[in-house]
Amino acid sequence: MNTNPAQRKRRIALFVAVVALLLAGSALFGAFSFSSVCTRCGAIRDTTEWQIPLTRATIFRMSSEHQTPVSTELFRSGVVSKHEHQWLFSSGGGNGVTCAIGEGRHIRPVVQSDGVASVLAAGQRFGEVQFRDRLVRLMFDSKTSEAVRGLGLCAPTNGFTDATEFHTWLSRETEFFDEMVTMYQKR
Ligand SMILES: [Zn+2]
Repeated sequence: MNTNPAQRKRRIALFVAVVALLLAGSALFGAFSFSSVCTRCGAIRDTTEWQIPLTRATIFRMSSEHQTPVSTELFRSGVVSKHEHQWLFSSGGGNGVTCAIGEGRHIRPVVQSDGVASVLAAGQRFGEVQFRDRLVRLMFDSKTSEAVRGLGLCAPTNGFTDATEFHTWLSRETEFFDEMVTMYQKR
C-alpha cells in the first residue's frame, strides 16, 4: 500500500481517536457485581458484569468461585462429590441498582460459618450421620438456614474433642434447635 506521509498521519490520528472513544465508552459501562451461593455444596461465586448503562445487557462477565468452611467439609466427608453447581442469587449492586437481593442471602452466612462446618464434621465423626444429613437439608433451604446458623453459633469455638462432648452438646441443643426450625418453617 502506497501512502504519503499526510495520509499516514491521518490514519494514525483516526486510529488514536477510535481507541480513545472505545476506552471512554468502556469506562461508562455500568459494572454490576453480585454473589451467588451453590445450594448443593455451599461454594460461593462472585460475578461482575459490565453492562450497557442502566440496562441489563451484558457486554462482558467475570466470575470467581470460592470454597467456604461448609463446602470444604461437605467435600471432605463425601456428602457431595463433583457436580454442576446450582447457583442461587444472594445479593448484588451497581449500574443503577443500589441493592439487589435474592434467596441466597439467607444461605450465604450459614455456609461461611466455621461453627456449622464443625457441627457437620462432628456429626460425621461421632456417628450422627442422620442428624448431619438433616442439617444439610435444612441449611440449603432459605427458610430454615437461619436456624442452622444459630446452632453453629452455639458450637464450641475449638470444635468437639470427643464423642461424649458432642453428644452432651447435641442433647442440650436439640430441643431449642427443633423449636427454631419449626418457627422458621411457619414464617
Ligand atoms: Zn456446588
